[in-house]
Amino acid sequence: MDQAVHTLLVVLALAAISTAAQVSPPASDIKSSSRIDSHVHVAPPPDLFLKMLERLNLRLVNVTLIDPHAPGYDKTEPQTSIVSKLTGESRGRIGWASTFDPAGFEGAGFAETTIAHLQSTFDKGAVAVKIYKSIGLDLKNKSGAYVMPDEPAFAPVLEMIAAQNRTVLAHLAEPKSSWQPLNPEDPHYGYYKANPGWHMHLHPERPSYESIIAARDRMLAAHPKLRVIGCHLGSMEHDVEEIATRLDRYPNFAVDTAARVVNLMLQPREKVRAFLIRYQDRVLWGTDMMELAWEKPDAAVHRWETAYAREWKYFSTAETLTAGGRRVQGLELPPEILRKIFHDNALRWIPGLKNASCCGGLPVD
Ligand SMILES: [Zn+2]
Repeated sequence: MDQAVHTLLVVLALAAISTAAQVSPPASDIKSSSRIDSHVHVAPPPDLFLKMLERLNLRLVNVTLIDPHAPGYDKTEPQTSIVSKLTGESRGRIGWASTFDPAGFEGAGFAETTIAHLQSTFDKGAVAVKIYKSIGLDLKNKSGAYVMPDEPAFAPVLEMIAAQNRTVLAHLAEPKSSWQPLNPEDPHYGYYKANPGWHMHLHPERPSYESIIAARDRMLAAHPKLRVIGCHLGSMEHDVEEIATRLDRYPNFAVDTAARVVNLMLQPREKVRAFLIRYQDRVLWGTDMMELAWEKPDAAVHRWETAYAREWKYFSTAETLTAGGRRVQGLELPPEILRKIFHDNALRWIPGLKNASCCGGLPVD
């Protein structure tokens, strides 16, 4: 080949590579476009917080839940009334997920009453329905057996959610370490020390980790048209391979990262990176950030902003962070994958978020 032609081809090839690289926006542009935190718990916030959401161009999915051991959160009200109004009050920044009380599942008319309740929440703009770990770990039937996620009484309710094109946010089971003795090395050590009621190692009479995950899997198989987002990496936070197995097996299943990014940080970087690239359409960014009192709004906003910056740094840069006393390198995911995890996947898996009437008419970019 003529040297001049060869040089020209090399130049053209380099130009093509550089053009291709420019097709995807740099990470900084993703940050300035909107991100959706698909899993938070917030009481009506002060304007300071709404300004932060606008400044960071963030939208949130505010999740209600029923915890029979948490006064004020042991019934659907007053959460539903308070949270459903927030979408408008937040200028469309805060969508919401409703829930239902599973405790009466053996009563006559449970399905009809629950379906009517959920329909009323959908009419008020709920885009998803949360089910909570009390199913599997706490709720018992009349004969004293623990009730599992594939309990037949829940089936008509799940089918209705699918028919209404809503999504289930399933927080089922706990991190696997809940069934093990307290271990200061475990990222969830502090939680189980402070919440012995959810530390399953202390409650050997409760169902095993494996039996709850298996029941969750049977629920996924029984309702193939129901979109289910497994909260907290689907309680398979200890190994991305466990998540991959379920994502391969159940096309209706995705996971959020809420409160489990630390578990990703502690697994081998290349393994986690390959997992997120392979399953780039099935992972939603969520944090589980919580603010129910707003006693010190400045400090709270600072806490949220710091947490958001840390997670963004981990996913988008190759910089070093500290997690569990270890130094961890960020994943530096490509911009197009960041965009899916931080934005597009929320809209795909929770399509109600695209509905302007639910979300204040904000343009969805
Ligand atoms: Zn949560």
